[in-house]
Amino acid sequence: YPFRTAAELLAHCAVVGGNFSDVMYANELAGRTGAQVREGLLHIRDVMEECKNSALAREGLLPGGLKVRRRAPAWHARLRAEDPDRDPAFWQEWVNLVALAVNEENASGGRVVTAPTNGAAGIIPAVMFYATHYTEQVRSAAPEALAEVVDAIVVKFLLAAGAVGVLFKEQASISGAEVGCQGEVGSASSMAAAGLAEVMGGTPEQVENAAEIAMEHNLGLTCDPVGGLVQIPCIERNAIAAAKAINAAKMALWGDGDHRVSLDEVIITMAETGRDMSTKYKETALGGLAVNVVEC
Ligand code: SF4
Repeated sequence: YPFRTAAELLAHCAVVGGNFSDVMYANELAGRTGAQVREGLLHIRDVMEECKNSALAREGLLPGGLKVRRRAPAWHARLRAEDPDRDPAFWQEWVNLVALAVNEENASGGRVVTAPTNGAAGIIPAVMFYATHYTEQVRSAAPEALAEVVDAIVVKFLLAAGAVGVLFKEQASISGAEVGCQGEVGSASSMAAAGLAEVMGGTPEQVENAAEIAMEHNLGLTCDPVGGLVQIPCIERNAIAAAKAINAAKMALWGDGDHRVSLDEVIITMAETGRDMSTKYKETALGGLAVNVVEC
């Protein structure tokens, strides 16, 4: 089921009678067994998890000279004290924590899963954390069935997010050097929104709408890392973009899938906006925060 555009992907969904993840899964089966696909996706989840856990164990300043303090370990300790029973009221704080942890690990040269890039690597793990802790199927699962339910969510989430990643790579770019941060954080937010919308039971049209909403509200996002380090604004930006993705999925699910702006239109707009963007805002650290924040 080859596709470059969301329109083609939606057409395939109608043919297979499934969603974004079903089309991706069918395509993956051309080169692997179903067990290998599942195993590979769960391995990606495990590496994301190790990345977060590694960051939670590291205190102190991030390397590079900006004197940026790691926040994830202290936030984790506070959350464990204030939210020992995973009260849903704290979902935002946990999502923030995962995004920060993964990006602190990236900023210190640790192992991350590019999703789709290093700078944006915290968004998909953070939104997937939401999907595997706060969705209805997780909260209603019997304890003995929980691990299986969570694995099924992860597989579906990553396949749907990957399908949207294909759309960005085919029609625009996921490179901050080419199109600014909208291509990195915007693409990741859009991919995560699609994954969550599908896990939460969205139709293909609602999943496409979720991805569209998340990207639309990241259009024009510049890349202006202070000191050329992937720390400010990158680390916090991942948490903000994760929140946008969750909101985009929720907004799409409150609609019926019918919407005015298509995902393809937004992706093409991102590519054009990126082409028009000054090189000052494309990973050169020559504009924006990179020149207005004093490096000391
Ligand atoms: S600001 Fe630039 S370096 Fe930082 S996450 Fe965005 S694209 Fe990556």
